[in-house]
Amino acid sequence: MPKFTPSAILFILSITTFAVVVSASVALVWFELDPIITRSDVVFVATVLPMIIAPLCCMYGLKGRQRMQALAGENERLANTDVLTGLANRRAFFTEIALPVPAPAGFARQVAYILCDVDNFKRFNDEHGHELGDQILKHVAGIIARALPDSAAVARLGGEEFAVYCTDASSVDVDALAAALVEAVAATPLIEDEQSYTVTMSVGLSVTTAAADPDRALRDADRAMYLAKSNGRNQFVR
Ligand code: GH3
Ligand code: MG
Ligand code: MG
Repeated sequence: MPKFTPSAILFILSITTFAVVVSASVALVWFELDPIITRSDVVFVATVLPMIIAPLCCMYGLKGRQRMQALAGENERLANTDVLTGLANRRAFFTEIALPVPAPAGFARQVAYILCDVDNFKRFNDEHGHELGDQILKHVAGIIARALPDSAAVARLGGEEFAVYCTDASSVDVDALAAALVEAVAATPLIEDEQSYTVTMSVGLSVTTAAADPDRALRDADRAMYLAKSNGRNQFVR
């Protein structure tokens, strides 16, 4: 059976109502089945009834359509959002953030991937509980998001890993940006229940051309991030 949209069903219903009313009235008058109904009654009913029913049906259909669109929008937003931090999630990073950027012919636009991993994060969980770990993730997410220029966006890839994509590594000093992220996190302890928790993160930076494969660019940033870890953490490596 073919699938009809709600508006198509309502349209068919209005047309059917119109057709039924006209045919029934015509039968009653022309074949003199009902001597009381006149031709003007028929014209009146055949015109007025659909005029009342059709807008009501359309309004109902439009409302339903708007509700469905709102729900679809909300579903899309939830599917792309990290529930804990409110940042974009891994899915959104690859489908909406790390997109190729068009560049004028002959101009090789540079983009940057910055991978941030909280240092020794497991210790916070182990020593102070999972809830404090969650607070730290929200705290770090906020610091990164506030430090970014307009041409960059951040997502939580999972666990204690965040990825930044900067669409304009030609005019933004991305080395300075990566250094600023490391510094901002280290310089802003989380204050929770009158306790201060200093957090640091290791950051890997990969600068590449706008058309590069995001998976590959992120793997490069990941390698740089692990170098930052092995160099002693709380720093960035390009
Ligand atoms: P390193 O400096 O080498 O990155 O060490 P690390 O402890 O930060 O990294 P490791 O991979 O050993 O531990 C990450 C931990 O993050 C393990 C996991 O239980 C925890 N984790 C992952 N997701 C969440 C989360 O949503 N909330 C909390 N509280 N913990 C999480
Ligand atoms: Mg990690
Ligand atoms: Mg870590």
